Amino acid sequence: MLVLGIESSCDETGVALVETGDSPVPRLLSHALHSQIEMHQAYGGVVPELASRDHIRRVLPLTERVLADAGLAAADVDVVAYTRGPGLAGALLVGAGIACAIGAALDVPVWGVHHLEGHLLSPFLSADPPEFPFVALLVSGGHTQLMRVDGVGRYQLLGETIDDAAGEAFDKSAKLLGLGYPGGPALARLAQSGDPQAFKLPRPLLHSGDLDFSFAGLKTAVLTQARKLGTGLEERKPDLAASTQAAIVEVLVKKSLAALRQTGLRRIVVAGGVGANRLLREQLDAACARLGVRVHYPELSLCTDNGAMIAMAAAMRLQAGAGAPDKRYAFDVKPRWPLEELSSTQA
Ligand code: ATP
Ligand code: MG
Ligand code: FE
Repeated sequence: MLVLGIESSCDETGVALVETGDSPVPRLLSHALHSQIEMHQAYGGVVPELASRDHIRRVLPLTERVLADAGLAAADVDVVAYTRGPGLAGALLVGAGIACAIGAALDVPVWGVHHLEGHLLSPFLSADPPEFPFVALLVSGGHTQLMRVDGVGRYQLLGETIDDAAGEAFDKSAKLLGLGYPGGPALARLAQSGDPQAFKLPRPLLHSGDLDFSFAGLKTAVLTQARKLGTGLEERKPDLAASTQAAIVEVLVKKSLAALRQTGLRRIVVAGGVGANRLLREQLDAACARLGVRVHYPELSLCTDNGAMIAMAAAMRLQAGAGAPDKRYAFDVKPRWPLEELSSTQA
């Protein structure tokens, strides 16, 4: 079965082709991405209306490109998958509308995929895919969750952030330091030349005994430090960036280890944009190596939003025997949609 996947939940238009077959994990044939980052940069963040309009411009050309790259024709597509939520309503509606139009034109089923399930299953796109069950650390721009994953659609929430997401903590701290949008990668880059112990920043809920996170206090602490430094900030920016990154990463790593202890599982998967962070990878790898725990990440380029993970999530559901959904082209989107609401059989 050939699955065409379309991602349009935020500021990235992604399209991909994934094929199910005899191997246990479906295969990525081609994918293409258009990032709107440059367009939104002038505004310091994503402008929803501009995002929707740009998705409209990009989806079909990207679809033509992935078909050409794979040497296939539209008529070869068996299922069309799109991101149904969570995300920006207008942006989601573009992907949903176009996916249904393509599905109706080709007379094939259309599948609404959960964006976070896409992130969660994105390590299956790598050369060394994980095996179930595993702990998942989902760290993206809008979410920070620890899950127990027993199979496709079998997700148990172990803990999550009670306020800001880890990506948001990176982005907001970066904004305070004047590093632009999206700040995560910029802050990480600046941190390389700084001292992570230069500033004492809070590690909220580190010893709370549960698997929840809180990052809202961090940006306030960064702001307080920045104000204190005044005109001296410029010179100390790398130190403050390094200290901020160290605080976020320490909490993520310690809570991940606690989740492994609590579940007794010996495997962890990291997914979402913050999974691209080098310090997080280094520290988690080191801690897990000591414990003999396997760590899996998506390819660096597939940590942030992309179409491959959406096609993959639908393909893995098909392969797990969920059965393709009916051919009905009345779509809806779910801007808010908790991942635990998914079941393994739902189409
Ligand atoms: P969600 O998936 O929760 O809806 P999203 O789709 O906006 O949110 P992603 O695309 O998964 O999130 O990730 C984007 C986030 O990842 C941003 O907050 C960005 O700053 C962060 N990020 C990306 N690369 C890095 C990095 N190297 N270090 C730290 N943060 C990073
Ligand atoms: Mg993004
Ligand atoms: Fe995302």
